[in-house]
Amino acid sequence: MTEIAPIFYKAIGAEIEIFNHCDVLKLPLLLKGPTGTGKSRFVEYMAESLNKKLITVSCHEETSSTDLIGRFIIKGAETVWIDGPLTIAVKNGYLLYLDEVAEARPDVIVAIHSLTDHRRELFVDKLGETIKAHPDFLLVASFNPGYQKGFKELKPSTRQRFVAVSFDYPQPKIEVEILIQETGIDKDIAEKLVKIGNKIRNLTELGLTETVSTRLLVDAAKLIHNGLAKRLAVHIAVIEPLSDELETVQALKDLSDLMI
Ligand code: ADP
Repeated sequence: MTEIAPIFYKAIGAEIEIFNHCDVLKLPLLLKGPTGTGKSRFVEYMAESLNKKLITVSCHEETSSTDLIGRFIIKGAETVWIDGPLTIAVKNGYLLYLDEVAEARPDVIVAIHSLTDHRRELFVDKLGETIKAHPDFLLVASFNPGYQKGFKELKPSTRQRFVAVSFDYPQPKIEVEILIQETGIDKDIAEKLVKIGNKIRNLTELGLTETVSTRLLVDAAKLIHNGLAKRLAVHIAVIEPLSDELETVQALKDLSDLMI
């Protein structure tokens, strides 16, 4: 029998304790923060630790309530109803993770409203049915706050239906540990990568839409661990994904070359 390694997640604050309380009380939870700060990894870790089945829906601008709730499909001469991921999770008591929920179409938000208050029920309009959520059903969503261009806002009336926890780039010591655990890289290189990450994060004048995430640093560490030259790994995994402006990219490459 092959053993599956447990999911690695390094806690940054009190998020594990908060999640456990939300699970007991079945309070919907909103994880706020930029991409690559470990939100999805955290949810996977919690699902494993609570022994819950996890369904993740990565929301985008075309995601509609039909995608979540379900639809009729034609099968031969018949029309059959197929439950969507939300309905499956509600019926079976799974953990449903709506990643980047603000990106979805407004009808998705309307659909989850009755699940996020005392009613804990889902109205399936196409069937004219109301489904009571299974006692174990838990809703978790993530959201990238709107201080960056290109990301949608979440209405206050929706936000107030969730307990919310902020995710941000971890403290250097913790981020170094994440890089080592995730990739097996030497401490010395992990420290240099984290220094580069923090240096670029502090260059707010560059006006980057998104800055260096832990994910990008993990990618660079993986490439280095796999034998790619350090500077090249930083160029392609950390700097190129950040900007398409040649001058910015060159300046960041020059800066990082001095640091690794
Ligand atoms: P998000 O969902 O916030 O966009 P992810 O959960 O996908 O971010 O994290 C991206 C990657 O960064 C993960 O695959 C993992 O390698 C790493 N990571 C970030 N934060 C952590 C953490 N606290 N513990 C373990 N790995 C982390």
